[in-house]
Amino acid sequence: MDTEQKTGFYGDFGGSFVSPELQVVLEHLEKAFERYQDDQEFQEELAYYFKHYVGRPSPLYYAARLSEQLGGAKIYIKREDLNHTGSHKINNVIGQALLARRMGVERVIAETGAGQHGVATATACALFGMDCTVYMGEEDIRRQALNVFRMELLGAQVISVTKGTRRLKDAVDEAFTDLLANYKHTYYMLGSAVGPHPFPLIVRHFQSIIGREARQQILEQEGKLPSYIIACVGGGSNAIGLFHPFYQDQGVKMIGVEPAGKGLATGQHAAPLSVGKPGLLHGFKCYVVQTESGEPMPTHSIAAGLDYPGVGPEHSFYKASGRAEYVAVTDEEALEAFKLLSQVEGIIPALESAHAVAQAVRLAPSLSQDEIIIVNLSGRGDKDAQLVFEMRQKAGEVAAKA
Ligand SMILES: *Cc1c(COP(=O)(O)O)cnc(C)c1O
Repeated sequence: MDTEQKTGFYGDFGGSFVSPELQVVLEHLEKAFERYQDDQEFQEELAYYFKHYVGRPSPLYYAARLSEQLGGAKIYIKREDLNHTGSHKINNVIGQALLARRMGVERVIAETGAGQHGVATATACALFGMDCTVYMGEEDIRRQALNVFRMELLGAQVISVTKGTRRLKDAVDEAFTDLLANYKHTYYMLGSAVGPHPFPLIVRHFQSIIGREARQQILEQEGKLPSYIIACVGGGSNAIGLFHPFYQDQGVKMIGVEPAGKGLATGQHAAPLSVGKPGLLHGFKCYVVQTESGEPMPTHSIAAGLDYPGVGPEHSFYKASGRAEYVAVTDEEALEAFKLLSQVEGIIPALESAHAVAQAVRLAPSLSQDEIIIVNLSGRGDKDAQLVFEMRQKAGEVAAKA
């Protein structure tokens, strides 16, 4: 059984609520995806780049010291941080770039908030010699100067969006406007399992390599399936990539971890599945962090990649149906996990991924030693070292030791 029921819908969530003009473009994309997803040559090409360029399969690593210290379940870490460019985002952009090539398209556009998806897109375009344009809010450009430089170094053109709040939402609007005008020769590369159909399906398809590998690896290493699989949830692509291949395994519990920011009660978070309500965002139905009158609320997370008021439709469905559980972890708890994993395992996690680690830290001690937890480490933390350093400097910790 697939979790997509009626085309593009997961229970009551998903769909494609866009203008008729854009609908035509999305149907064109859907047809191309249907044609190539099971095409043998396409699959072989994808497998080639996953292996030789991304460095797959990523290891499933038994975190012996962390497990011992917590004193409960065995914790395994799926090392997406070891992929080329340092996160799971590369899986999706390689897949979509190959799809764009099959569609005969030479120009790729994308939008980016913190810059991580923009850098991934620029990487894939450099690899395949495609023209790359990235829309980014003026405000985000100012805050993420180094990522803007990375994109330009990789040959992309970064366009500053000066409309509205000059943030991600405005960049998304500009990207869709560009797509409408230029779809015959332009591919819009979406970065997470969100947006109107067929994007959530396409992104899940390419990210499912995470769960397929992890399932096989744990069977090889332990001879049984895990009790829990845990991943952080921004838009939800690394989590759905891990979860979906375990969907039929009813004994495997899935936990998605949202950012509680400064605390769910403060309103400064980005946790739609924990405290949001169903609504419409960027052309699809999902849980949304919204005001009384239904406007998306400003969000906050210490992890830029988790800072989004909505969430993928398939996670919305997993929550509504009870197949997965969603919890929230604060900035502070994520920082603790960031330090813990660095010190106990020698692995500096991305702040996004540290949210998933924090949930494993909460859960493991309550489980027995023959139970297994798999945590998806969506990315490495080098990108966050400076931020954490500056925070500690402000707090006086670093200065006092120096
Ligand atoms: C972008 C990002 C995320 C959040 O995106 P999802 O689509 O929810 O996976 C998580 N971790 C890292 C390292 C990221 O770069």
